[in-house]
Amino acid sequence: MSSPPPVIVWFRADLRLADNPALLAAGETGAPVLPVFILDESAPMRPLGGAARWWLDKSLRSLATDLESLGLRLILRQGPAGEALERLLAETGATRVFWNRLYDPGSVARDRPIKAGLRASGIVCQSFNASLLTEPWDVKTGAGGPFRVFSAFWRVAGPRSGRQPPHPAPVQVAGYDGDFASDSLEDWALHPGAPDWSKGFTDWRPGERGAKARLHAFISTAISGYADGRNRPDRESTSRLSPHLRFGEIGPRQVWAAAEACESRGAAGRAVETFEKELGWREFNAHLMFNFPDTLNANLNPRFDAFPWRNASEDLTAWRNGLTGYPIVDAGMRQLWRTGWMHNRVRMIVASFLIKDLLIDWRLGEDWFWDTLVDADIASNVGGWQWVAGSGADAAPYFRVFNPVLQGERFDPDGDYVRRWAPELARLSNAHIHAPWKADDETLRTAGVRLGETYPTPIVDHSWARDRALELFEGLP
Ligand SMILES: Cc1cc2nc3c(=O)[nH]c(=O)nc-3n(C[C@H](O)[C@H](O)[C@H](O)COP(=O)(O)OP(=O)(O)OC[C@H]3O[C@@H](n4cnc5c(N)ncnc54)[C@H](O)[C@@H]3O)c2cc1C
Repeated sequence: MSSPPPVIVWFRADLRLADNPALLAAGETGAPVLPVFILDESAPMRPLGGAARWWLDKSLRSLATDLESLGLRLILRQGPAGEALERLLAETGATRVFWNRLYDPGSVARDRPIKAGLRASGIVCQSFNASLLTEPWDVKTGAGGPFRVFSAFWRVAGPRSGRQPPHPAPVQVAGYDGDFASDSLEDWALHPGAPDWSKGFTDWRPGERGAKARLHAFISTAISGYADGRNRPDRESTSRLSPHLRFGEIGPRQVWAAAEACESRGAAGRAVETFEKELGWREFNAHLMFNFPDTLNANLNPRFDAFPWRNASEDLTAWRNGLTGYPIVDAGMRQLWRTGWMHNRVRMIVASFLIKDLLIDWRLGEDWFWDTLVDADIASNVGGWQWVAGSGADAAPYFRVFNPVLQGERFDPDGDYVRRWAPELARLSNAHIHAPWKADDETLRTAGVRLGETYPTPIVDHSWARDRALELFEGLP
């Protein structure tokens, strides 16, 4: 006898079993559960970048194994999600579909009509919150609108953030017996082919178990030094949970609860508070993107619409390749290319350099990050770029231009970060590592550096470029 119709659980950016309310609720119905992941890159969805595709490949393999241990088979389908779901409903006779909500403009535009259409045809459709501490519509200003300034947002959202404890993973779930088609991950070819540029992605362990291990390692060691160490790219002082959070291999409620528990075990309160505030930035970006969906492409502050961006493809290529002649910028861009990740402080430095020193449109930088970051997330990426540009909410004022030499000297004082990612400079002393062009010929010769040959001369003079940027920004209407 075949199983009764299943409840379909549509996995999206929640690739985990624990604290997954859609999966839990489906299991609690007592009906068999059919988990599905749909690779949907049709409009209005933004196709994934290369690094995120690499991650997704590994994460889905891990999820499939974990679901198997519950007796469930993960079904893979491709194409517009609404159509794929309808086919699956017809094939299985299912009358219920559960999923966890997404909040970016593309997903909202796709999911709303899917939900309405399914409900209109009598399907029970339920969605849950698995990826945020507070829903973006729940946090409101006194006047009832959305926030545009982080500190004000966090004053309201922060105290509410730990209220909802994480849900447990389901213990026993009935599997669905039906035998029907699933795509194979090999056919999707998410892992890069020739050339395989992902060879440097060795430190990552995508999947729920990898996420938990990463959280545990951070909570048991680095968190106590987080408040002071988080700005140091030369140290392993941040959690590196961002790709795990991006794909929902761990949820923010779990991370928050672990941070709180470690505070109660005596870790410095300031460190925990600072860490929780960073989770707050993730929330704030989601809040902004949900409430101001046009900011996906448009400046939140329209004053910036008139900015005369330079069309400078050679400079853009030098920036992407980590060949600008500014060591901290180049080290960051190479870390990004090699590992799919970049330290937050360096993200700000390289973004400021592209926007303010090279006067290249922030959207081109955002696009490159989208393609190369394993944690590429629409809300946080756009939010980060608009923050640096000064065109977004709560923006760094346009006149704050990061000086790449001073930033390097301050946050990579021993030059370890630069030496690691720009090894051709490794033999320069700390005094010259962040500004090799200031070294005399003898110093360069001894260090084996030939400017313009083994390492580029700066593609632009920073102090001249800073003045140029300020003049243009001040001229905006
Ligand atoms: C130009 C620019 C682009 C960015 N693009 C992305 C992106 O695509 N995806 C992404 O997840 N983050 C992005 N960030 C934010 C931040 O750089 C990363 O979240 C952080 O570096 C991840 O490292 P971590 O996990 O070790 O962070 P931790 O310091 O350990 O912080 C813990 C978690 O809090 C969140 N978080 C921390 N800082 C921020 C922040 N400034 N904004 C939003 N969330 C934050 C992340 O989810 C992170 O995993 C961007 C920042 C800038 C300046």
